Amino acid sequence: MERTFIAIKPDGVERKLAGEIIRRFETKGFTLVGLKFLKVSRELAEAHYDVHKERPFFAGLVDFITSGPVVAMVWEGEGVVAAARKMIGATNPLTAEPGTIRGDFGVNIGRNIIHGSDAIETAQREIALWFKDEELVDWQPHSMAWLHE
Ligand code: ADP
Repeated sequence: MERTFIAIKPDGVERKLAGEIIRRFETKGFTLVGLKFLKVSRELAEAHYDVHKERPFFAGLVDFITSGPVVAMVWEGEGVVAAARKMIGATNPLTAEPGTIRGDFGVNIGRNIIHGSDAIETAQREIALWFKDEELVDWQPHSMAWLHE
């Protein structure tokens, strides 16, 4: 079953959006299989954003993501990687569609509330980076029978 990595960034936590964001993934029909609340180390932040290390915003991004607590999650479901990206919306909240998390709650690209893996392979890399195997829960909610034919 497909899994994706989702993180509510320090701005989302400070703005008390964690409950609203979790609610959206739950009510959509995805299954929570991992969850932790942590202050991110510079080492983890740099590894997570390694692909952006040459970009001008990299240092500021690492400073920001390590500045306060983050809610790190793994969500499971058919097509969850692409569906979560749609639910999150475009990188810049100002142009993200209304109805998306960034479109509904943000105005600035450097404070865009949430991270979601951009592809299945990225999700696998990010889940392994943030979670140990034993921190992920294998379970099948009973509601599955009502979400699928
Ligand atoms: P996404 O998070 O939508 O996958 P990217 O992978 O392109 O977006 O960028 C990673 C993160 O880097 C963004 O979510 C945002 O926090 C930050 N970022 C990207 N572009 C900029 C920018 N031009 N200025 C400031 N921060 C940026």
